[in-house]
Amino acid sequence: MHSHGYAALSKSTPLEPFQFERREPGPTDIVIAIKFCGVCHSDIHQTRDEWGGSLFPMVPGHEIVGEVTAVGNQVTKFKVGDLAGVGCMVDSCGHCVNCDAGEEQFCQNGMVLTYNSKDKQGELVQGGYSNNIVVTEAFALKLSSKLDLAATAPLLCAGITTYSPIKAAGVKPGQKVGVVGLGGLGHMGLKFAHSFGAKVTQFTTSLNKKEDALRLGADEVILSKDPAAMAAAAGTFDFILDTVSAPHDMDQYLSLLKPHGRYTIVGVPEKPMSVAAFTLIMGNRSLSGSAIGGIAETQEMLDYCAEHNIVSDIELIPMQKINESYTRVVNSDVKYRFVIDMNSIA
Ligand code: NAP
Ligand code: ZN
Repeated sequence: MHSHGYAALSKSTPLEPFQFERREPGPTDIVIAIKFCGVCHSDIHQTRDEWGGSLFPMVPGHEIVGEVTAVGNQVTKFKVGDLAGVGCMVDSCGHCVNCDAGEEQFCQNGMVLTYNSKDKQGELVQGGYSNNIVVTEAFALKLSSKLDLAATAPLLCAGITTYSPIKAAGVKPGQKVGVVGLGGLGHMGLKFAHSFGAKVTQFTTSLNKKEDALRLGADEVILSKDPAAMAAAAGTFDFILDTVSAPHDMDQYLSLLKPHGRYTIVGVPEKPMSVAAFTLIMGNRSLSGSAIGGIAETQEMLDYCAEHNIVSDIELIPMQKINESYTRVVNSDVKYRFVIDMNSIA
């Protein structure tokens, strides 16, 4: 099937217009005409090969929403005209212990990422900065028409990546939760923690984001470069979610946890970060990580968002502005997710 979009042809070249072929849809596949696609910092890490092993040419994009234009003859979940979404994964083995547990992202036989990955036939797959996608219905998500469609796109990655660890930590009313970094993931983490009833502190390096953080649901904003404010918060947090995309000092946040408090990293800086053992042992604190979320939990998150009217705060851009938007994301100048309007390449 013919597709067109924007791709990185190498780690050192800007994204540019690109034509390519996708597989022909099979009996359990659907075809989605992509309307909007979010811009995740992971797209930037991967197009610039900051994690190593990037596969080119690369059409990024894993916050995909659109309309179903064709369905295979065994498809049961979707019909032509339905809204559908695709997140970070498009396939997995479907029968290992982790797939059975609903954690396809940990498939023992290797899940297929939406882009920068090869499918079961060994063919390079391409993401959502494009006009269409073919995907097995098992990895496509149902979307509510009640929510703004463009602002729904970031839920497919930023949404599930923050919802999953906040739920896993058992965040509930009365607890004190911190979110580190107010970008695409951070602003969704803030919204979910607030919605789960916690008292939320937003940590930021950008003083100019304070008013926005309060509007988005923060009870308090702490500038992490302010040593006095950081010291005053020591030992008071039940849970902290770290969404920072660049290497940073984790000890300064870990020391804010109460005894038995939990710290979960979702950001993926390109270099390893160190932690002082004393910061963890003094207080029996836990340090953990979290990768996106399984398909069933992603659907649960989307349904939760439809019920509670939660979407992303977005800046809609034409595809032609993609390289400019990357520069702004890297400079922490995004409020709070860029979303590409696919009409711009129609
Ligand atoms: P983003 O929009 O760029 O947000 C990152 C935020 O981190 C920035 O807005 C900034 O917030 C803060 N920050 C940036 N550089 C910093 C530095 N040097 N020191 C301290 N704070 C800094 O990125 P995103 O799309 O939310 O993604 C965040 C990270 O999560 C990326 O590494 C991405 O690859 C990763 N990710 C992981 C998963 C997963 O499954 N675990 C899924 C998606 C993305 P302030 O201005 O408020 O300080
Ligand atoms: Zn992402």
